[in-house]
Amino acid sequence: MDLLQTPIEYLKGIGPNRATLLKEELGIKTYQDLLHFFPNRYIDRTTFHSINQLPRNTSEVQIKGTIISHKIIPQAKGKRLSATFYDGTSTIELVWFRGYKWIQESLKTNTAYIVFGRLNWYGSKASIAHPELTLETEYKQSNLGAFHPVYPSTEKLVNKGISQRVMKQSMEHLFRQVHQEFHETLPDFIRNDLKLISRKEATIQIHFPANQNQLTRAQFRLKFEELFYIQMQLLQKNRLQKQKVKGYVFEKVGSYFNEYYSNHIPFKLTHAQQRVVREIRNDMGTGKQMNRLLQGDVGSGKTMVALLSMLIGLDNGFQACLMAPTEILAQQHYQSLKENLKGMDLNLSLLTGSTKTAQRKEIHEALESGSLHVLIGTHALIEDKVRFKNLGIAIIDEQHRFGVAQRAKLWRKNNLPPHILVMTATPIPRTLAMSVYGDLDISVIDELPPGRKSIKTVLRSDSNRLQVFKFIKEEIKLGKQIYIVYPLIQESEKMDYKDLMDGYESLAREFPLPEYKISIVHGQMKPKDKDYEMQRFVEGKTQLMVATTVIEVGVNVPNASVMIIESAERFGLSQLHQLRGRVGRGNDQSYCILMSGVKKSKEASTRLQTMVQTNDGFEIAEVDLKLRGPGDLMGTQQSGVLQLKIADLIKDQEILKTARNYAKKLISEDPELDKIEHRNVRITYSKITRHKNIWNYIS
Ligand code: ADP
Ligand code: MG
Repeated sequence: MDLLQTPIEYLKGIGPNRATLLKEELGIKTYQDLLHFFPNRYIDRTTFHSINQLPRNTSEVQIKGTIISHKIIPQAKGKRLSATFYDGTSTIELVWFRGYKWIQESLKTNTAYIVFGRLNWYGSKASIAHPELTLETEYKQSNLGAFHPVYPSTEKLVNKGISQRVMKQSMEHLFRQVHQEFHETLPDFIRNDLKLISRKEATIQIHFPANQNQLTRAQFRLKFEELFYIQMQLLQKNRLQKQKVKGYVFEKVGSYFNEYYSNHIPFKLTHAQQRVVREIRNDMGTGKQMNRLLQGDVGSGKTMVALLSMLIGLDNGFQACLMAPTEILAQQHYQSLKENLKGMDLNLSLLTGSTKTAQRKEIHEALESGSLHVLIGTHALIEDKVRFKNLGIAIIDEQHRFGVAQRAKLWRKNNLPPHILVMTATPIPRTLAMSVYGDLDISVIDELPPGRKSIKTVLRSDSNRLQVFKFIKEEIKLGKQIYIVYPLIQESEKMDYKDLMDGYESLAREFPLPEYKISIVHGQMKPKDKDYEMQRFVEGKTQLMVATTVIEVGVNVPNASVMIIESAERFGLSQLHQLRGRVGRGNDQSYCILMSGVKKSKEASTRLQTMVQTNDGFEIAEVDLKLRGPGDLMGTQQSGVLQLKIADLIKDQEILKTARNYAKKLISEDPELDKIEHRNVRITYSKITRHKNIWNYIS
């Protein structure tokens, strides 16, 4: 029996009631869980501050000195006890609002005390309220002068008596019991290279650090280990997949591709597009299934890459499909592909939730017989009734809208899985992509089509509205089109957010018929009506498009030059960037106007300022990552894999890179982990993969 798997209730001082609480509140079930429940911060009682050099923030400080005077001072409500504390450099006020009578009686002047507490600053004067006050003589006899761990906790735990002290004592009991249970998990060569302390030492020091240096080394060791094993899993999976998952061999580029490329393509590919098409082509020729993520900022021309990839599939006798997250997008892809492939002998169909039954049946039949070459659509594509004769390549646009299960479904439609190309305009910072999508190959379009001017972005408030309207009119006079986007569909009570309908009405007054025509699109309209309104805008029959965020992804109207975002402070960064990407698609100067009230959170200000300062999707993604943390950024499907115990994917990127390099090195030297010196890695690895199936979260 593995001692570490012992239920936590058997630990001294815990028992069944506390065990239930620990399980419910913190997910701690076994000795091992507790051992790996790390403090989220430490109280440093090893160093002393001088009063004349206190940090100008509200951190906790420890000071050694004497009380030179004290008195009770009446104030507006009640009284307070105020003591002047002196440490040889300066003085600080200690205050008590409760229990001051007996505290005052116990205070000794001209006696050495150790004071600990949080600073309050009033201008240049600092004070500490209700400090922890210990006589120096007592302090010396206690073990106070150390690092004290602070464990994550909940109100319920505190109320039920599981205090920090109880946690700390439990850890002490635990260590006494399990001190022989520590096994090294990293190979010697890595430990030597990086001078890592042992696993046992690190685990002890993370709970009971002797000093800052030991703590830092313990943290490094444990973070490294955590990231190393994630990388091991990702790399191993990638390797096994390459070995095992066979794919169709697309051996040639044939007449469809060549004809399109020589006679129909409307522009010259950018270098980045050429490179990516080459990467995809190589991938699909290997006999292994392609599983590739295509990242490219909004407007970088991913659709053309998709089209060319599909043509290669068709050249090899296979069918292709393109799946988009919204009806509007699917519609638009359908139209643009049809337009592009005009004059070529190819059949394309569109399948969405609103496709009529009769037509649906026709599509099903054509798909199964193979007479339909390309199917474009929404989620409707992965319904069970949809069966391809021989799907060779599946392209998924704007993948962050799709769940993992849905992607997996596409695979199951054939004997061999189709090649998969996932396209996204939400740039994922490289390090993060590498740790989350370690198993996907990544292509990046890092170049915009030539002649694009960067979009001018400005921040405006309600008081500028008339100017904004004037500007819109000027642009319309130049033949341009305008988007105006609102965050909400219906007015929500008590909130002063601009409501779409309100906005529409006031716009209709400002931009009256017949001179101006307005389209409106929002989530509560029927797909048919949405399409109709959208289509009018695409064809230039309306000059203004008033919409909610349904137009966020992919919509392509190159003639639109102004994007106005109402209540911009309510949008997330990547959403703002997506929306802005709807303009700047032609060769003329485009503008993004962020409308926002004066009052907004600091985070919202950062988001808006970032938008004003840069057009670079990767830069924006970095800021977004810092503001929101990786879990949110990746969406819930992927966040599971990112719930790390100690490492932080933002702050620990350097460690992540190191861990990845070592994992690569180990796997290339000993892919099956057979070597005796890697035995502990093999054992650890198989334990991890048995307990938690990381693959469920990704790809
Ligand atoms: P996204 O990557 O956001 O999906 P699109 O594929 O919609 O971008 O392309 C944006 C616009 O740029 C489209 O109007 C497209 O026709 C155009 N485009 C794409 N590639 C090129 C190119 N190499 N040269 C000129 N225009 C291009
Ligand atoms: Mg697109």
